[in-house]
Amino acid sequence: MSQNDWQELEKKLFLQTIKRVPVTLVRGKGARAWDDRGREYLDFVAGWATNSLGHCHPVVVKALEKQARTLMHTSTQFYTVPQLELAQLLVDHTCLDRVFFCNSGAEANEGSVKLARRYGKLRLNGAYEVITAHDSFHGRTLAMIAATGQSRFQEPYTPLPIGFINVEYNNIEAIKGATSEKTCAVLLEPIQAEGGVNIPDDDYLRKVQGWCREKGILLMLDEVQTGAGRTGTLFAYEQYGVEPDIMALAKGIGSGVPIGAFLAKENVSVFSPGEHGSTYGGNPLVCAAAHAALKYQIDHNIPAQAKRVGNYFLAKLGGLKQEFDFITDVRGRGLLIALEFNQEIGDKLQLVCLAKGLLINRLKPNAVRFMPPLIITEKEVDKAIGILKEALEEIRKAK
Ligand SMILES: *Cc1c(COP(=O)(O)O)cnc(C)c1O
Repeated sequence: MSQNDWQELEKKLFLQTIKRVPVTLVRGKGARAWDDRGREYLDFVAGWATNSLGHCHPVVVKALEKQARTLMHTSTQFYTVPQLELAQLLVDHTCLDRVFFCNSGAEANEGSVKLARRYGKLRLNGAYEVITAHDSFHGRTLAMIAATGQSRFQEPYTPLPIGFINVEYNNIEAIKGATSEKTCAVLLEPIQAEGGVNIPDDDYLRKVQGWCREKGILLMLDEVQTGAGRTGTLFAYEQYGVEPDIMALAKGIGSGVPIGAFLAKENVSVFSPGEHGSTYGGNPLVCAAAHAALKYQIDHNIPAQAKRVGNYFLAKLGGLKQEFDFITDVRGRGLLIALEFNQEIGDKLQLVCLAKGLLINRLKPNAVRFMPPLIITEKEVDKAIGILKEALEEIRKAK
């Protein structure tokens, strides 16, 4: 089958929700991936910031193989060891006390909001509203697009579920102004990822936490993308001097297996049996893989490596900004990085890089994002910078 044949098949078979990049990947190892023609790529998308340890990391593969031969799935009524071990690891390495496992980021946030509403009903006179931010991204379920403060996700599906107020990000006054006796929680990304790699002021989250404590409402952090080492610490909240009451995780904690989780402080853990559930959530197979991946990250101090290589990458991109006047901004934390332009060349740059063997994400018409695996080396960054430079030169010439 040629790439064209695959594309025709996709057009025929799928609901057309994804604008795909014209390449069919068949294999991956570390920061590299190969297509069906045997062409090699440097993968700076990493499964959308999920493959923390790169493709097919030996510790993840080994854990999956072993667990697949032992016990893949049981009803959640039964105790299983991989799930308990992963929960223990998460509790030991966060400021939170209890865990619920699910399968995705949207579900993790949805569950977080259900817990906040339960808390509101029991402790806050029935308060149910959740304040979220413009340009946020919390997932694709109906409730989570209402939480996601971007009209392009909301408008096709109105009317939306009620109970969400979207206000300006990085603006504490906006949150104060939206708070009422109906408010049970504030839900934020520590750094907005899909919304543009928007990094708030250093004291923003501390101010939000102060406000939440003053009002007795919950601070919920969506660390689905920023968590698991991505921004240079195991969780981004550590860098901002705050402690969320509830935190949602997914993406990177599985290093390639589909898992989500939300964690809560003891005093917020108000669910009773039957009030929430998931058939596959926390099944032994994915928990064994996620435990192996997360334990490896912690034992080998991978977040610190992400911070070091991320700073190196940022400095190199800063160099490109000096050379190409149409680059207007370079920003990021750890290995969550964006490059912004004063022209709409995001799609073009993504395609030119693809042709040269580098996979990147077009973040906005005028921006691209890099979220390579956390195990990339300075040498791999140099290679990516070389390709980017060639691509930018080509684009400059074509203008
Ligand atoms: C990707 C993402 C989600 C949604 O995760 P899914 O697994 O696609 O449901 C939610 N929040 C943030 C911050 C994300 O980056």
